[in-house]
Amino acid sequence: MLMKREILRGYFKMKILDGKVVAHHWKKKLQQQLLQWKDKGITPTLAIILAGEDKPSVMYTHFMKKVAIEYGFNLNVYKEENITEKQLITLIHTLNETKEITGILMMMPLPKSIDAQKVIQHINPDKDIDGLTTVNLGRLLNKEVGHIPCTPRAVMAILSFYDIELTGKNVVVLGRSTVVGKPISILLEEKNATVTVCHSHTKNLPEITCQADILVSAIGKPHLVNRDMVKPGAIVIDVGINRIPDPESPKGSRLTGDVEFESAVEQAGWITPVPGGVGPLTVAMVLRNTLRAAQLRHGCLPKSETGAGSKTGKAGC
Ligand code: NAD
Repeated sequence: MLMKREILRGYFKMKILDGKVVAHHWKKKLQQQLLQWKDKGITPTLAIILAGEDKPSVMYTHFMKKVAIEYGFNLNVYKEENITEKQLITLIHTLNETKEITGILMMMPLPKSIDAQKVIQHINPDKDIDGLTTVNLGRLLNKEVGHIPCTPRAVMAILSFYDIELTGKNVVVLGRSTVVGKPISILLEEKNATVTVCHSHTKNLPEITCQADILVSAIGKPHLVNRDMVKPGAIVIDVGINRIPDPESPKGSRLTGDVEFESAVEQAGWITPVPGGVGPLTVAMVLRNTLRAAQLRHGCLPKSETGAGSKTGKAGC
């Protein structure tokens, strides 16, 4: 099976929207900008709060740390296995007030005993680099300067890098979560696409997805999207990250997307793989937003970075 996937990827290489290539582009760009900041004696610092023991969050934090160092950012991890809601809020306030901390990223999910929505609102919106606070979501809706969630930014960065026109395109977004599906649909609509959002109560899903010039899936259900749900030539962006059993893998499991790659790739014009698609870009966008937070604080955000949208139909972000 592993072999078959690799052969398919090789065979359909021309159709792959390669997140690693786009992430490399951003790495170079951010490293260049970082040098200018370091000359001024400032190194943007990201604080990751890891509350609880969620395994994927622990793994993601390790990975994030490795990448942040590679890019040249500082990264502090606040690992709190047994933390109460009150203590977490106190930690957030301390980080808000710590001058050296540029951005705060709180890993989700939080332990069940903690009200995530309540806690998130305590993050200073200017340090809320995953754009989760109500203030930043409002700014996104009003096209004001703020922080846009990193995964939606990653989707836009891929579309932009590959110069994919969005004006007048029918886009179907699967998933309506506040951190992924909804912001993606807002950003795409701002680029003049006609966006349909589907969710767990949507009826006749294939009928809708087959109308899509661009299909974005962010649902978290392995292989829910197959070739019968893809319009020939469509662009497919798979945001889903799901772990499934795989007896051929040494770990006994592997990561896969929402899209059944092997069948959808035959029908799609372009497609993101999982892993190697949106994931690497999301990490790059976390660091990009950290740098943006520094630029915002020092009042030197480049003009190109001031809004969520622009008048063109290109995905530029
Ligand atoms: P979520 O559980 O908050 O939301 C899932 C959404 O999918 C909901 O809106 C739900 O209505 C919809 N949905 C569920 N079943 C459906 C179905 N059968 N048909 C249509 N819609 C359905 O999840 P989330 O936080 O938005 O994340 C979605 C996926 O994206 C997950 O797999 C997550 O791991 C992944 N993710 C990836 C990245 C990345 O960097 N690539 C980042 C964040 C999340």
